Amino acid sequence: MAIIDCHAHIDERMLSIDAIIAKMDRAGIDKVALIPAMNDPLPKTDAKILTLFRALMTSPLHPCARWLHEQFMTSGGDVVLGGVVVRIYPRPDNATVAGALKAHPDRFLGWIFLNPNAVADPVEELEQWRQVPGFVGVKLHPHWHRYRIEDAFDIAERCEALRLPILIHLGFGESGRWQLLTDRYPRLRLIFAHAGMPHFGRMWHDVKANRHLRVDLSSPYLSERLVRRAVRAIGPERALYGTDAPYGFHEFDHSYDYHHIKGWVERLPCRARDIDRVLGDNIEELLADGR
Ligand SMILES: [Zn+2]
Repeated sequence: MAIIDCHAHIDERMLSIDAIIAKMDRAGIDKVALIPAMNDPLPKTDAKILTLFRALMTSPLHPCARWLHEQFMTSGGDVVLGGVVVRIYPRPDNATVAGALKAHPDRFLGWIFLNPNAVADPVEELEQWRQVPGFVGVKLHPHWHRYRIEDAFDIAERCEALRLPILIHLGFGESGRWQLLTDRYPRLRLIFAHAGMPHFGRMWHDVKANRHLRVDLSSPYLSERLVRRAVRAIGPERALYGTDAPYGFHEFDHSYDYHHIKGWVERLPCRARDIDRVLGDNIEELLADGR
């Protein structure tokens, strides 16, 4: 059984390819599915803000989470963290992932990052990158790229036809209406990043009811407690281990701690077989089915 991190970013300003591989080896991770960086390097995560944000998103006060999020955005669509403006890139550079796939095809998989707001024909961009062996699906981020779910319909249609999964980080309001995708593209396989943030428990019942839908368990947006709640609600068959590295949990050397979220999964109150599923079998099965 292989252990696969299904959600990580490549940003060599924070963690080089060699450092990623050394960390994978130490943590016993066989493969990492990489996404190009969509932003400047992030400052150290403020744990208090994340706890507040998580508490809001999972409570009846969840509409306030949108207001809180907007306090961290500039009018130009960048993010302000710790007083520093972190630029959001309209077109994340898929070539960075393609380079890693070519150099280490046995260790990396890749997600093609598309932004329907930034290019005239995102489907053409998809066709170009999917020729590179190792790219396994598409990453969409309507939250930070600020578009409506409808804007991704062309991409979703092509992915459904190609049986390519989409990993999507949902947003609030019009950037979060994921049901528009499932209604229109019933065979499209979707992975909701960060356990469906910002909707969490408000969508888990529907995820469980639709075998084409999955969540990943990545990022410090989540906590061990929230991961347990998500897996209990959705079932271990459709939860996928992921990290969001290099963002989030830091080791003594200030670089990414690859053991942290893996520990959350290994300590899940589930059968060993189910933990193996979350750590790697589920994503392997999903990807094998698509070819
Ligand atoms: Zn991410």
